[in-house]
Amino acid sequence: MNTDSRTAGRGVERGWVISLLSGAIDWAAFASHLLARTAERLRADAAELFLRDLQDGDLVLEAVHKLDASRAGFLRFKRGEGVTGSALEHPGGLVIADRKKHPAARHPENFSATPLPSMMVVWLGENEGTTGMLVLYREGVGSFKDADLAEANLAAKQLEVMLDFGAVVSSFTPHQAVRHIENQRDARNFRGKMVAPGQCLGTLSIHRHESAADILEHERMASRADAADTALFDRALARARVELSHDRAELRRLIPEAAVMLFDAHEMMLQDDQFAAKIRRAIGSGMGVAQAIGETAAEYIHLFESSQHESVREKARDIEDLALRLLDNLPDDARSADFERGRILVARELRPSEIVRIARASVGGVVLCSGGATAHIALLLKSLGIPAMIARSADVMQLADGLPALLNATDGLLLVNPADDVKNVFLQRADKISSPPEPLPAGGVFTRDGARVTTLANVNLLSEVRPILDLRADGIGLYRTEIAYLVRDNFPSENELAELYKNFLGSTRSIPVTVRTLDAGSDKFIDYLHSTREDNPALGLRSIRLTLRHPEILRHQIRALLRAAAGRDNVKLMFPMVSSLDEFRAAKSIYEKCRLEIEDETSLPCGFKIGMMVELPAAAELAPAFAREADFFSIGTNDFIQYMLAIDRSNAGVMEYYTPHAPSVLRALKRVASAARDAGIDCSVCGEMGHDPLFIPFFLGIGIRTLSVEVASLSTVHRVASSVTIPECEAYANALLAANTINETQTLLRDFSSQ
Ligand code: PEP
Ligand code: MG
Repeated sequence: MNTDSRTAGRGVERGWVISLLSGAIDWAAFASHLLARTAERLRADAAELFLRDLQDGDLVLEAVHKLDASRAGFLRFKRGEGVTGSALEHPGGLVIADRKKHPAARHPENFSATPLPSMMVVWLGENEGTTGMLVLYREGVGSFKDADLAEANLAAKQLEVMLDFGAVVSSFTPHQAVRHIENQRDARNFRGKMVAPGQCLGTLSIHRHESAADILEHERMASRADAADTALFDRALARARVELSHDRAELRRLIPEAAVMLFDAHEMMLQDDQFAAKIRRAIGSGMGVAQAIGETAAEYIHLFESSQHESVREKARDIEDLALRLLDNLPDDARSADFERGRILVARELRPSEIVRIARASVGGVVLCSGGATAHIALLLKSLGIPAMIARSADVMQLADGLPALLNATDGLLLVNPADDVKNVFLQRADKISSPPEPLPAGGVFTRDGARVTTLANVNLLSEVRPILDLRADGIGLYRTEIAYLVRDNFPSENELAELYKNFLGSTRSIPVTVRTLDAGSDKFIDYLHSTREDNPALGLRSIRLTLRHPEILRHQIRALLRAAAGRDNVKLMFPMVSSLDEFRAAKSIYEKCRLEIEDETSLPCGFKIGMMVELPAAAELAPAFAREADFFSIGTNDFIQYMLAIDRSNAGVMEYYTPHAPSVLRALKRVASAARDAGIDCSVCGEMGHDPLFIPFFLGIGIRTLSVEVASLSTVHRVASSVTIPECEAYANALLAANTINETQTLLRDFSSQ
């Protein structure tokens, strides 16, 4: 073990770390122990440790010393709330000699629980903002003084190093907390934000190339001595074309949804005679080839960047990428980066063309600097399963090439030069992680008393289908079709969609599949579709409203799916966010027209069962009427909660109001389930409540027998469902449904979880 002498006490804590590692104590005990030691050292009579919530930046109580522990995990302060929240404005810390006299100390939650008179609050973490707070209270040995701050800050620093160390080696994954790690003598650690989940151990490969814009500017200003030779350019152009078509084919194999999006603009520009002719003219006037490429690209970039439309401005990045591809294909160009198998690539930014090379080389992980990951790049890295994070500090670029490092992208942590014991723990854990999760039982999932629970998976990408088959899920309960629209700059054509769906359905080996039509808008913003940002996009032109406003979009999608599904009987179709029967009928009538057309065109009978997502209070209210016209219901609880409670599902600032256990939500869910049962149609749940161990029994208790969850949660459904009986679930659901307040349902959930 690395007993770094700068972190005093680490040697002493070794026993605790080992206990944590071996599982003899848990994270909470470890954190409480460290807090107690820190409090003793600072002669505090009581203490609290707060860590910041990654989502909303609130300070959440993590551990206490000699105070009421039941508030841990629940007590939270926003910036400016109470002394703890106010301390966010004071990097050096805050001392309050007599809390009774201090206005900020009158936060009722805090004061009633800790009536000690003197208080001191110091930050955990410094340069990049605090990652938590150490709060100390005194009664007996005299009030805290400003002079105590220096020692407290030092102790907080050491506490933080130990906490981080513990977080890394324990099985605790600190999703809720951002923890900053101090640079150590031989080890440096960087915090960041996850782009794509996963972890890897490897050596760093620092991609220190200038940004694309800098390279082009450089070429433009200082021409290489290369000849003004159009033949050179023509050769580069021809090579770039071949390369592009290879990259595209590769991408089609790796991420079919993105294949069209990535190099569309590149291909267009390469076909664009004006672009090439302009470069040739510049060469003809005596300019070096590289300079002519840089010069022409700069003109186009300027043109695109001055557009009012974001989607056109984004095209400027494509031109940069394409110009670099041309430059790369000039003789003697040494700019191409070497991406190597298993290495952790650290780069300021990544260009789309580099993504394919990264995938081809099986790079182990990616660390980007902030601003270096566009939404598209993030999505691609995720789809490729390459762990990636955005580092908060650009200092990562200063690291030496070849250093050993551990990237835990899921928790936003890069450990450079990790100690041997940390590496060993990682490897042991990686073994566990990489060993595939247990497949579901071959005969299906059953409750203890023998009720069959149909366990389906939600899918966004084609690449997710394979694991679903391997895990023996009963089918796909929700295929979100947005990705093909989101990763592009313009509409996919009917043919492109048909090809994508054919690929998708082909890969499902005929397990049941429910496809949802385009659910664009709100959090799934598609810029070429939405010409203006709406003030309230969640209440605006989204989902089925949008596609009914532009029926061609719906027609293309449905026709493409009908064509792709010809000869299959495993496909169902559903419409999202249906708010009225009128809307549902309008969508069904478009479907019916498409069905007749395709039947006519192919001379084959075709058609799907047609269902709807129940995501709105309006749909719950009218559920019995809908159940007479829909073949099935799928409850999208993510939106259902949002609209029932008028709470923005993606606004971290109001997350505490996003309460799935609100009695109104639970009772409305029950009404929907009953309406489906009375009409004899299937009703499943495909929102995130469906994989919550506290709600799975509730759903079973209200008669729902089909849950569709993310692949990673299939085993949770199995574990929970197979541990309960239906009468137990019914009793639990009834108790929840009888409660009138969120507090009561919260208590019932808590009691259930502690059973
Ligand atoms: C839902 O709203 O619960 C749902 C499954 O749809 P999405 O999350 O894609 O909006
Ligand atoms: Mg939804």
